[in-house]
Amino acid sequence: MNRRVTLAARPEGHPRESDFALVEEPVPDPGPGEVLVRGLWLSLDPYMRGRMSEGRSYAKPTELGEVMTGQVVGEVVASEDRRFAPGDHVVGQLGWQEYALARGGALRKVDARIAPPPVWLHVLGTTGLTAYFGLVDVARPKPGDTVVVSGAAGAVGQVAGQLAKAMGCRAVGIAGGPEKVRDLTEEYGYDAGIDYKGDDVNAALKAACPQGVDVYFDNVGGALSETVFRRLATGARIAVCGQISQYNLTEPELAPRNLGFLIVFRARMEGFLVSDYAHRFEEGIRRLGALLADGRIRYREDVTEGIEHAPAAFIGMLRGANRGKTLVKLA
Ligand code: NAP
Repeated sequence: MNRRVTLAARPEGHPRESDFALVEEPVPDPGPGEVLVRGLWLSLDPYMRGRMSEGRSYAKPTELGEVMTGQVVGEVVASEDRRFAPGDHVVGQLGWQEYALARGGALRKVDARIAPPPVWLHVLGTTGLTAYFGLVDVARPKPGDTVVVSGAAGAVGQVAGQLAKAMGCRAVGIAGGPEKVRDLTEEYGYDAGIDYKGDDVNAALKAACPQGVDVYFDNVGGALSETVFRRLATGARIAVCGQISQYNLTEPELAPRNLGFLIVFRARMEGFLVSDYAHRFEEGIRRLGALLADGRIRYREDVTEGIEHAPAAFIGMLRGANRGKTLVKLA
């Protein structure tokens, strides 16, 4: 049988376990052009919260009763597409389920000799590529720049800080709680870490960024960004990657209220979507892969076992319970 997690109800505010349902169905057989994949690892990501709601976004919402959207790395078990054979490792948008049928064109082969399968969901997958294109293309730091990353101990953040260091920058991370802040400097090579839950963020930024913030890689938004805007350097670039502080609010926060600082510091602020860079993923994977092989990118994985525990792991991640990349081990 195939166990899958579907959307049972649209959440109000923070999702609850009752918003999800675990259902069982027979494992399907592949038709012409289709590939049957057994999932090994499922990636849990903040964007999934957006898909649970009906509001306007860049992708259509998940329907009630539909399997939750999610990227999976898995192993081909049967194939009616000549490009894939049993035993191949593939990555695709296969959803929160143990087995999935996909058209061959929707799958990408990954080489498990280069990196273990779950790494193709983070450093060499979407979150690593988000850090890469957000920095290299949108924020464009120069050597010697001070780069501040919010959500710095998470999946995107852990890579963003190490990339900034590899580009010759000073990296300052902001995360929640002393344990994560310790990870920033001890595991991910940030020059300084700030605890937004316990520190006076403005004073800590002033101390950690005496010349101001040249690049702000923003995963969080809201009041935290308002504080960072006060400490920008002239000509600063702000890459708006995510706004996780807002995803579970029933009414959006009004911060940042101080966009006037963008005028004071002649700053540029730009949002981006990693999927717009699909035509350049190979470039990103090559650069990230080289840094990984050299030991210049380290990562932490936060693993939950079993599809039945995916909803709890997802809810926990949205509240900051994860340390590193949130993954579900399916098999
Ligand atoms: P993650 O950082 O591994 O996990 C989410 C983290 O968000 C939590 O661990 C928590 O860390 C933090 N958080 C939750 N509520 C918060 C709040 N109110 N204030 C501050 N921090 C809060 O997740 P991820 O996959 O790396 O994603 C990070 C961001 O990148 C998200 O905003 C996501 O939407 C965005 N993203 C964007 C793209 C794109 O194409 N633009 C692609 C991928 C991801 P703390 O414990 O530190 O609070």
